[in-house]
Amino acid sequence: MSRVRTPVVARWFDGEGDGFRLLGTRCAACSAVFFPREESFCRNPGCAGDELVEVALSRRGRVWSYTDGRYRPPAPYVSDPELPWEPYTLIAVELEAERMVVLGQAAPGVTVADLEVGMEVEVVPGVLGEDAGTTWTTWHWRPVGVTA
Ligand SMILES: [Zn+2]
Repeated sequence: MSRVRTPVVARWFDGEGDGFRLLGTRCAACSAVFFPREESFCRNPGCAGDELVEVALSRRGRVWSYTDGRYRPPAPYVSDPELPWEPYTLIAVELEAERMVVLGQAAPGVTVADLEVGMEVEVVPGVLGEDAGTTWTTWHWRPVGVTA
């Protein structure tokens, strides 16, 4: 049975392969960029802007910090207590052009042992999970030059 690929959060990312991008919004008045996207008004306290346009974020950034989740998070995190907990790696990535840090899971197989602060990473399509009819898609960060 084929599953429908559905973004786990609508309109936070789009595209396939090399065209995959995170989507934020940019204030038309002060050019501040927001991710998660801000839709109604600029969060810059010195700006009264209320026109926010969708913008694709930089594909590459540098590792700002990272950690691994060795334990099952408490509710409301959704996980099946019957299944063994699979540790995952979380990376905070600094995007230079946007001057922001974006969190995300590392691509499958990437562990903290593979990472260093300052290392270049790129955003790639990822899968968060599957249920009966749906593959829930998300984004992952992957060190540049590594193919998984
Ligand atoms: Zn603004």
